[in-house]
This record gives sequence, structure tokens and C-alpha cells, in this order.
Amino acid sequence: MNGQPYEYQRRPLVEPDWTRFPGWRDVTTAQWESAQWQRVNCVKNIKQLRAVMGDLLDDRFYVDLETDQQRLATMSMLLPPQMLNTMVPDRTPDTESFYNDPVRRYMLPVATDRHLEWPSHPHATRDSLHEHDMWVAEGLTHRYPTKVLAELLSTCPQYCGHCTRMDLVGNSTPTVDKLRLSLKPVDRYDAHLAYLKAHPGVRDVVVSGGDVANVPWKQLEAYLMGLLSVPTVRDIRLATKALMGLPQHWLLPEVVEGMQRVAITASRRGVNLAVHTHVNHVNSLTPLVAKAAQTLLEVGVRDVRNQGVLMRGVNATTSDLLDLCFGLQGEAGILPYYFYMCDMIPNAEHWRVPVWHAQQLQHDMMGYLPGYATPRIVCDVPFVGKRWVHMLTDYDREHGISYWTKNYRTSLEADDAEALSKQHAYYDPIDTLPESGQAWWRKQVADD
Ligand code: SF4
Repeated sequence: MNGQPYEYQRRPLVEPDWTRFPGWRDVTTAQWESAQWQRVNCVKNIKQLRAVMGDLLDDRFYVDLETDQQRLATMSMLLPPQMLNTMVPDRTPDTESFYNDPVRRYMLPVATDRHLEWPSHPHATRDSLHEHDMWVAEGLTHRYPTKVLAELLSTCPQYCGHCTRMDLVGNSTPTVDKLRLSLKPVDRYDAHLAYLKAHPGVRDVVVSGGDVANVPWKQLEAYLMGLLSVPTVRDIRLATKALMGLPQHWLLPEVVEGMQRVAITASRRGVNLAVHTHVNHVNSLTPLVAKAAQTLLEVGVRDVRNQGVLMRGVNATTSDLLDLCFGLQGEAGILPYYFYMCDMIPNAEHWRVPVWHAQQLQHDMMGYLPGYATPRIVCDVPFVGKRWVHMLTDYDREHGISYWTKNYRTSLEADDAEALSKQHAYYDPIDTLPESGQAWWRKQVADD
């Protein structure tokens, strides 16, 4: 049928030609497909970026990047070649195309990307979801009644500019001194298992970080086998953006064989083992990403799912989201599962979208994908948890304040008789409000 708002067209995945970057002109396929080569050649600073880009970019880009790193960035730079290669994937980049690239916009943010007047919302906070406040053991957040989040480490093979866990994850930046995990990994992991054994009502463990691809394989396998030895644990979900950012890691023989052992054990014990990844744009999907996802499915992982983040300038249009979902579902064997609204962390206002926009995107995505592969757009409301974007109870569009309720207590509210009747606020980016709403916020800030 012609004339639809979105026209589906199958697009097979293509590995962009990395030799278009001057610094990688002589890189072989064997090097490219080596996890070790990818890790050693990650771009961690401007000097290394210049070495890869040669004279493709004007100096003004590097000045803009340096300004951001000194004054605004909440994450340090860490880009595996695999991810850098998905920026301007179909030609040799120049300054303008690099500036406008959706993956560049969130993986390599520059100062002029940020909003001048409102870089941060007045209610933005470092640990915007209060995960640290809900730790029941170091790195173990118990927020939902039946589920826990286990943060095994605080590093990733790639650092995303919008990281929700910017409070803990990555190296400190000139503007953010990061929280540190203090226990030895083995003691932290033992504490997690002890908590799970003592709390049989917790049946679902999200194993995250950071990114589990940075946990040495033997340690990760031991942790997962430990979880599988707790009979009350019925779901295990492994979180790794590296499935996309460094798929070479998930194709290492040691990792593939180890995942097979874990998947077989999970299957024998009737535990649902899944991998969750984080892809925000269809350009990030390459044949190697698909191969890594399909290999996980082949060794017995029950499902590989995507949890993207909705961001202006990156993917906040219906066609961007549907292109990505069709690439995930049809080409990479990854289930489109969630899109999160970008959380209210500092210096993220230029990425965040208002709730009404997210609702419109959810509306416009319906009906194209199979129902089970139609992702939900969710808002992670502080002190509430994930809510579908249509679940708000009230919405003041002028001031950009939506109100949400909850149906369970977190560990912080055990003694709060009113926890389930309270309304919790979430805030739209101020620059998206009508002028009267923006003026109201200016006055609030001035009066504070
Ligand atoms: S991979 Fe995940 S945890 Fe790591 S920096 Fe990106 S968003 Fe944060």
C-alpha cells in the first residue's frame, strides 16, 4: 500500500568501510574482527581522534569537543573503532556530516550540541533514579518487589554521553567526580548472592554495570553460575551495550563457549536467560552485530533484546525508530523491547524529549511491527520506576510537569503509609515549553 506515513523497505546490514578513515587505511579484516585490536585501538582522547581522522575535520570541531570535555561532559571519551566506524557510514566524513551524525551526537558530544540557557533541568540529579540510595549490598539495587539490578563493575568498553549511571560509571571528568565501588569484586559478588538467598521473593536479576563485557569471562561465568544455583532466581538478564559497540567481544571463542555452558545450565534449571543490549540508531547495526546476537541465540540464550534511549537529534522521529526496529527485528535477531526517555541527569536537556512527544512517537509506531516486537516507550520516573508514557495521571503542559503514581513500595518506602497514594513529578525539557512556561521556570530559578 502506498501513501503510508512510514514506508517499510528492507535494508540488509552493511559493514561500513573502515579504510575511509585515514588512520585505519591499512587495517585488515582480521584486525578489525579482533576484540583485542578493537580494545587497544579505542579512541580515548582528542589526540587519538585526530590520528584516526587525519585532516577530515576542521579544528573548530576539536575546539568544540575540548570545551565540552572541560566544562560539560559527564562521561569521558571511550569509542571502540566499531562504533566510530558507524558515524557517517556511507562516505568519508567531513566536518558538517560528522557534526550532524546521530551516533556522533550521543557518543562524542560537543559543547555546541548542548542547550545554552538550560543545559540541565533544575531538577536534574547525578543519580537521577536513586539507584545508589536503594543499594541493599554494594552494587545491588532493590527497587521493584521481585527484581534486583546487580552492578558488577563501573566500566564499559564504550562510554555514552547520556549515561544514566554517570554518577558511578566511567572515569571522573573535570565536572564529575565519580562514586567508587569499594569492595573487592569477589566480596561484592558474594554479598549479592547472600542477599538473593536470604530474599526468595526476588526472582529476577538484571546483571549490569557498567557493561558485563568488561567483567573477565571466568568471573562473569562464576557469578552467573552462582545465580543459577539459587533456586528462587527464575530470570537472568545480562546487560551489554558491547553487543553493538564491541561485538567482537561476544564472538571470542572463550566467551561463546562459556555462554553455551551458562545457557545449558539455565535451560536445565528452567531459568530464562536473556541478553539486553542498547542500540539507539539503525546505523549502529552491522553484520558483526547481527553475528554476535545470532551466536548468542545459537548457543541457547533465550532472547536478545534492545533497550534504546530516546534522544533528540539521534532517534526521536517515527522513521528513525521504525528503521531501527526493523533492522533489529528483521536483520539482527534482536527484539525491539523498550525505548527509555533520557533520564534527568545533568547537561542532558538537549537530548531529552517531552512526554507528549514520546506519547506521539508511541502512537505513530503502532501497527507496523509485529505486536510482540513493537517496543514500549517508557519513562523511568524518579521514585516510581518504569511507566509506559501513556500512564501519567495528570499533565501540566504549560510548565512541563507530568504526575505519576506507583503500585509497589521500594526499599526506601517500607514505612511510608502514603507511598502508594502519592503523586510523583517528572519534568519536560524547559526549552520545549511555551514561552509562559519557560518564564515561570526562569522565575523559579531566580527566586531559589
Ligand atoms: S554502555 Fe550503558 S552503562 Fe556504559 S556508558 Fe553506555 S549507557 Fe552507561
